[in-house]
Amino acid sequence: MKYVLVTGGVVSGLGKGVTASSIGLLLQACGLRVTSIKIDPYLNTDAGTMSPFEHGEVFVLDDGGEVDLDLGNYERFLDSTLTRDNNITTGKIYQSVIDKERKGDYLGRTVQVVPHVTDAIQEWIERVANVPVDGKEGPPDVCVIELGGTIGDIESMPFIEALGQFSYKVGPGNFCLVHVSLVPVLSVVGEQKTKPTQHSVRGLRSLGLTPNILACRSTKALEENVKTKLSQFCHVPEVNIVTLYDVPNIWHVPLLLRDQKAHEAILKELNLSNAVKPDLAEWTARTKIYDTLQDPVRIAMVGKYTGLTDSYLSVLKALLHASVACHKKLVIEWVAASDLEEITAQEAPDVHKAAWDLLKGADGILVPGGFGDRGVQGKILATKYARENQVPFLGICLGMQLAVVEFARSILGFHDANSTEFEPETSSPCIIFMPEGSTTHMGGTMRLGSRRTYFQVADCKSAKLYGNAKFVDERHRHRYEVNPDMISEIEKAGLSFVGKDETGRRMEIVELPSHPYFVGAQFHPEFKSRPGKPSALFLGLIAAASGCLESVLQTGGKVNIVSKNGVANGSAMGKVHQNGNVYSNGNGLHH
Ligand code: GLN
Repeated sequence: MKYVLVTGGVVSGLGKGVTASSIGLLLQACGLRVTSIKIDPYLNTDAGTMSPFEHGEVFVLDDGGEVDLDLGNYERFLDSTLTRDNNITTGKIYQSVIDKERKGDYLGRTVQVVPHVTDAIQEWIERVANVPVDGKEGPPDVCVIELGGTIGDIESMPFIEALGQFSYKVGPGNFCLVHVSLVPVLSVVGEQKTKPTQHSVRGLRSLGLTPNILACRSTKALEENVKTKLSQFCHVPEVNIVTLYDVPNIWHVPLLLRDQKAHEAILKELNLSNAVKPDLAEWTARTKIYDTLQDPVRIAMVGKYTGLTDSYLSVLKALLHASVACHKKLVIEWVAASDLEEITAQEAPDVHKAAWDLLKGADGILVPGGFGDRGVQGKILATKYARENQVPFLGICLGMQLAVVEFARSILGFHDANSTEFEPETSSPCIIFMPEGSTTHMGGTMRLGSRRTYFQVADCKSAKLYGNAKFVDERHRHRYEVNPDMISEIEKAGLSFVGKDETGRRMEIVELPSHPYFVGAQFHPEFKSRPGKPSALFLGLIAAASGCLESVLQTGGKVNIVSKNGVANGSAMGKVHQNGNVYSNGNGLHH
């Protein structure tokens, strides 16, 4: 097993996760099998209890692990399936050490950070690195480990110590340290400054870690004399210094690394002479398409946390994958659900009008998942608008539940229809608490991870989008579900439950057959979307919003984004819209 450790210096938010994923992808393109581990030095056991508003979305894995959103980047870039153990936190490590202590496994010794915690970290890394994540048998060739935070943080000290010991243990030729740092430019003189990087490398060395590769974030490519200086002061050969300068979008990062021969430097450090030249033809072609897209497709995201886009990261990525597949430029219109509500009309009419204008100007409407009742009424109003005005609609998890509530209110005339999450005493409980475990305890009652959905009707849009499959496995994260006792009544009124679980009691996909595209899913399809394999239901939304759903349905949800030799295929048809805020990835290295 070979290890690549990615650390970060100077400041956080340098795009370490994207860099680590890109290194993984590049090595994969060289014919190697790659896995990844993310270390989060916080005390939370997992991300499940962390607010997406502060930390970005909680990413959900097949095994039900609620993890850091960086794992989503790994899965998307490497097309892998990770496990909860691929996300190490201080909480998990200490819990395992304390459990062992309670069992008496330390045989009366004093339990300490060194060696017990550091040993536990090393054992965890070694164990998880050997688990295949690409669906093939046998251990991977390389494990990319990303250490969260910045060198020097108090929290990461035990990890640094463990990784220092680990690099010594696995020995040279098996361990490569890539340090991601910042080379700022002072606007007055326009000079690229190396001091911050020098300092952070010194910090790294003083903790017993020696960088093999420097990946410098900067606005432009590093000047030669700057590289020379860095090489001298940091003791890293010039060929091992790469610049991650600003790019239009993150898909460029693996290409940037390849162009600067980062793979050659890493492979040399890892003593891997049998790797092939990186084949990134398809990736390159897709990136080119992404760069040149012009026809916008406008999607209104009717959510709660509209201030922090990272809280809907996977949804945005899934929309992007589908838009690129349809050769459309994704334009996200952020609509705060509560702005659509009547109360806002009274308190801030301008805000209310602006929100409705955005919604009405969109080609498609998406209501994502969520918890808590803020903005629920606004989401219901947006859903009603989509249903009545034939606007393509996708509701995810809470979005699907509210679509059922809206239908029950408007079509069945159940005026107080609601989810018992928001109105426990409602006389028309169309969404009820349906945990897999206990119905009396909240803790551990979430239906989490991969579950199977069986299509009930072959001739429905979702089944076709999923390639006419009989069933599909998608990831879940919820407690509430459509009330099974109300199904027949709702179906009679025209809403169709086209996907259910194996018992037939849990409703998974809902569709309105009479509408161009009105689909809701109890699961979160966004977590399994990939750049080259857009998620079926997102593809349906974007295709419907671009006017090309029919052709996508005819091909069983297949779109050929790039042909085998990496050449872009002709663009999908659709209507053209002008203007609008284009959703971008900021400086290109952000998520
Ligand atoms: N709050 C809803 C539930 O628990 C929806 C959750 C979600 O959207 N992820 O069922």
